[in-house]
Amino acid sequence: MRITAAVLDQAKGPFTLQEIDLADPGPDEVLVRVDSVGICGTDLEFATFFDTPAVLGHEGSGVVEQVGDRVTGVAVGDHVTMSFASCGSCPTCLGGHPAYCHRFDAVNFSGRRPDGTSALSRDGETVNGHFLGQSSFASHVVAPARAVVPIDKQADLRVVAPFGCGFGTGAGAVLNVLRPPVGSSLVVFGAGAVGVAAIMAARVGGCATIAAVDVNADKLDTARLLGATHGVHSATEDPRDLLRAIAPYGFDFAIDTTGREDVLRTAVESLGPLGRAAVVGVGPSEQMSFDWRSILNGRTVTGIIGGDSLPQVFLPRLIDLHAAGRFPVDRLLTHFPFEQINEAVAAVRAGAVGKAVLTF
Ligand SMILES: [Zn+2]
Ligand SMILES: [Zn+2]
Repeated sequence: MRITAAVLDQAKGPFTLQEIDLADPGPDEVLVRVDSVGICGTDLEFATFFDTPAVLGHEGSGVVEQVGDRVTGVAVGDHVTMSFASCGSCPTCLGGHPAYCHRFDAVNFSGRRPDGTSALSRDGETVNGHFLGQSSFASHVVAPARAVVPIDKQADLRVVAPFGCGFGTGAGAVLNVLRPPVGSSLVVFGAGAVGVAAIMAARVGGCATIAAVDVNADKLDTARLLGATHGVHSATEDPRDLLRAIAPYGFDFAIDTTGREDVLRTAVESLGPLGRAAVVGVGPSEQMSFDWRSILNGRTVTGIIGGDSLPQVFLPRLIDLHAAGRFPVDRLLTHFPFEQINEAVAAVRAGAVGKAVLTF
């Protein structure tokens, strides 16, 4: 079928809207008409080096229009949000941790299906797609059924699109991995969409002290409105002294969403004994370093992909929390018509929006 997609023809863009071809779904795949799609830092990161021509986008929501012969659990007409792909048969997938699938890169970042084909083409030329199971900067997506999560039809597709990556990543880090005991303390570095999702989840989880650290005062205001008990403006002051004043014995948990070496070092040093730091963001630093003595007192540092979630279990729960008013992401969203994808990308790069969502 002919679809409209935002095609990347050269590294770094721009994206151009084009009519291209999308093949029918295979036996284990689903055709989804995209309603909305969030823009995530990972899209912009991969746009700098992904093999072109390509279609990116991985926070899509929409309605199922067709399912392959072997698909169960997803039906035509279902409302869905989409998440990352996984193989389903490796030890970590079978162990309930598909975000750590042994074939994660092959099924999410190769631009092709595992068999080397792509559902996308333009004038007979292959277009790279299948990005994080989707390539949802497009009017329609062919996705593996494992990447598709049926959701309540009452849920607003314009709101739930980013649950599959950004919001699920932040919330999952807290609710699936760190699991803070009621009354514990947590500090989040970077008050963007991922960080604020972690903050809202920390409130759901009953943390008593929730600190947000950012260089942007507006983002700190939003973080405070949505659950942070303290905002630390790190552009004007050294955050270490301020964090020590908030948690004199150190924080129980720290989350770094920035991917910056200096920030992770501060995160580790902000912990108390036995504290846990989590790295959840892709950022500018290739290496992370800290004084080895700073983790000798039982502190641990862990990386987390995709909130370590089972999307089909975790995302409906997160959507229920949203419906109950306990995961109020709406304030973070700025919607753009799909045609304005380049304006939306510029707004994301400038830090002018919490979470940009494109709508059809
Ligand atoms: Zn796997
Ligand atoms: Zn993402």
